[in-house]
Amino acid sequence: MSNAGCEICRHGVSSGEYSPFESGSAQPARVADSIEAQAQLHHCSLCGAWWQFNAREAHVISETEAKQIFHAYFSRR
Ligand SMILES: [Zn+2]
Repeated sequence: MSNAGCEICRHGVSSGEYSPFESGSAQPARVADSIEAQAQLHHCSLCGAWWQFNAREAHVISETEAKQIFHAYFSRR
């Protein structure tokens, strides 16, 4: 995987210190939800990585994947 996030957002994910809210200062901050995918989209404002969170784990996805899964979020930007 070419984009696995930066040190800051990887630390946020692995330590659980990411932001659960869009306005949070921690990285990666939550920006959207998908009810269908039962997942949340988090975005690192430092490196631009998109993280998909679900009940069990979190991983970096491409912007293309993010747009497919969380299309409602991207369509209102
Ligand atoms: Zn990052």
